[in-house]
Amino acid sequence: MLLYREPLHRRTVLKALLLITMISGVLFCILNTQRGVYALATIELLTAAYSLLLYRVVSRTRHLDAWILAYLLPFLSIMMFALAQPGTSDSIFVWVFLIPQISYLLTGVKRGFMITGFYLLAAAALFYNRYQDMETMPAVSIANTVICAIAIWSFAHYYEQSRERYSRRLLQIAERDSLTGLLNRMRLAEVVDSEIRNAETRGQTMAMILLDLDHFKQVNDCHGHPAGDHALIYVAEKLQSAVRKTDYVFRLGGEEFCILLPGADRYSAAEVAESARRELEQGDFCMAGKPLSLTASFGIAVSGEDGHELVELYHIADQRMYAAKHGGRNRVIADDLEELHAAAFAVADEASELKY
Ligand code: GH3
Ligand code: MG
Ligand code: MG
Repeated sequence: MLLYREPLHRRTVLKALLLITMISGVLFCILNTQRGVYALATIELLTAAYSLLLYRVVSRTRHLDAWILAYLLPFLSIMMFALAQPGTSDSIFVWVFLIPQISYLLTGVKRGFMITGFYLLAAAALFYNRYQDMETMPAVSIANTVICAIAIWSFAHYYEQSRERYSRRLLQIAERDSLTGLLNRMRLAEVVDSEIRNAETRGQTMAMILLDLDHFKQVNDCHGHPAGDHALIYVAEKLQSAVRKTDYVFRLGGEEFCILLPGADRYSAAEVAESARRELEQGDFCMAGKPLSLTASFGIAVSGEDGHELVELYHIADQRMYAAKHGGRNRVIADDLEELHAAAFAVADEASELKY
């Protein structure tokens, strides 16, 4: 499953803007009251109060994108209202240069482009409406203003576009395993915590499947390390195709993998693990034209029943995975009973080895 995370800087930028809006809202309210532009002065005071309220909300909210729009659209609309007031100062139009910067910083390239395009056009229309009859506005001032606005828009657009591209790339390097492209161990803690919380609020469970390839060292020893790498990529693809789009597959390191199934119980997790086990066993992996058998041992833990945190679930799933190894490998162990059977099998096996 692909993970979306809001760019962290947006919360900081929004909070800074809210502070500026609060302070400038109060200052302009005083100025416009003195000039007699009472409608605008009232709106500015209300904007300052609204910004104070938003400041408290955005510090905690998990729906930052929605709150950004709840700030940005009224803010820009009030700016347009102010541009349309005949009593305001001519220099009020300098605020228009802020539109591309804050729109792109707060909403990214796609929304930033649409919001900037809409409000810059509206500002241009208001500018034209205000100065069309004035001979005092020389053509050179209009040209400077328009060219400056277009230049700022272009810089904001290309800067944000390349920033998004590089941050996606960095995120991929930080959270994905470079060989298989699966999520890595670093992401596991974050995903487990949030998925356990989601499952608990919905009254469901989350299942964790740990698996380790059997006798994988032999693949490297017999066929070489590059062949082992190909086998790991093949296993990653098989595991990914064995789960739903909303599930997660991680490579934890070496030949150990983890599958998270949000909303799954023990029974359905055992079914998924069993089908993945069969897929690997009966798979079509070939080395130098010859089929090569790949198997794995699986251990399962379920949130709520086996633990509430990553360490507890990992510990139980790992124990069961090792019980599967001792019980003969190429098998799934989903609960205590199966773990006991596997342990009994291992003891019996050892005893019979001692006898002969
Ligand atoms: P068991 O069934 O007990 O798990 O035996 P095993 O041979 O799989 O276990 P062991 O831990 O002894 O060996 C794991 C091997 O995985 C050792 C190492 O050479 C190999 N390995 C780990 N990471 C990589 C990798 O990135 N590429 C390749 N080709 N091999 C790897
Ligand atoms: Mg192994
Ligand atoms: Mg291992």
